[in-house]
Amino acid sequence: MELRKDPITRSWVITGDDPGAQRTDSPCPFCSDAGSNVQVIAKSPDSPGSPWSARSVVHPTPLYHIEGEPGRRGDGIYDCMSSVGAHEVLVENPRHDRHIWNASDDEIAHFLRLAAERILDLKRDPRIKYISLFKDYGKNAGQEFAHPTSQLTATLFVPRRVLYELRAGREYFVSKERCVFCDIIQQEERQALRVIEARGDYLALCPYAPRVPFETWIMPRNHDAAFERTGLNKPGLRTNLAALLRRTLQRIRSVSEEFHLVLHTSPSTMHPSKNLGYWKTIDDDYHWHIEILPVIPAKAKSYTFKEVYYSPVSSETAVNQLREAKIEG
Ligand SMILES: [Zn+2]
Ligand SMILES: [Zn+2]
Ligand SMILES: [Zn+2]
Repeated sequence: MELRKDPITRSWVITGDDPGAQRTDSPCPFCSDAGSNVQVIAKSPDSPGSPWSARSVVHPTPLYHIEGEPGRRGDGIYDCMSSVGAHEVLVENPRHDRHIWNASDDEIAHFLRLAAERILDLKRDPRIKYISLFKDYGKNAGQEFAHPTSQLTATLFVPRRVLYELRAGREYFVSKERCVFCDIIQQEERQALRVIEARGDYLALCPYAPRVPFETWIMPRNHDAAFERTGLNKPGLRTNLAALLRRTLQRIRSVSEEFHLVLHTSPSTMHPSKNLGYWKTIDDDYHWHIEILPVIPAKAKSYTFKEVYYSPVSSETAVNQLREAKIEG
């Protein structure tokens, strides 16, 4: 597999002929008692009855490899490089059946802290530009493992959507000297049309222009560009975030069991990028958040075009259904 850059949109894609490695999920390679040969990178403190509460391991079939040189090269007008970076599986819980929506807030907080530590650690590698944390749940969402897991990739480029957000955030800041995300939060809290729930310093809301029905964002109400700072330094905040994440996923699952979840945090500023000017003001103009996109196949099927998002449920309607969803705890 290698990374190729689309010369028109300038987005990187991973491509190659994947041999389609056969994966056997039994026994589960991530269960604490499995004598599997997973390569453990880090773990968070013990939980009762288990030597760890969350841990990060090298992905069994990684898309990115930490060793080697990117070997960035041209091929006529094209650019390509080797897939250098990191690819980890974050095991959210030692128990095979304890997903975020039915775990304790303490367990989720441990997982969030581990995620923050891994992001900080990978940001120390000056080659790395961006770290993505994501979770795919359900067959139609591209779920890979049965065990409760998220995945993390560290790349030598910033993924396209994050790049859009960074550039838009900077432009807004240049003209208004305010963070666009903070302004969104203020208006949403004032209008109370699309807010699902506020929990301490965190807010769950349906965005004004959703890409899919019931799209939901979780954001800190106080400005912070980097999740990993919040995640590490403020245990009280972490518990609020854990509770909001758990409750929001319960609400989402009342609509669709399957979803994508992605964390958008600031890129690594260790990397001396020449062509991107956002590094100097990034702490002011970017604002970390979690995006949750439910997968609703019946709604997606009738509209195949991907260039303009079509979301046949408005956020004002979605928010009522999500607010009223029956949740526990
Ligand atoms: Zn398992
Ligand atoms: Zn902000
Ligand atoms: Zn985002």
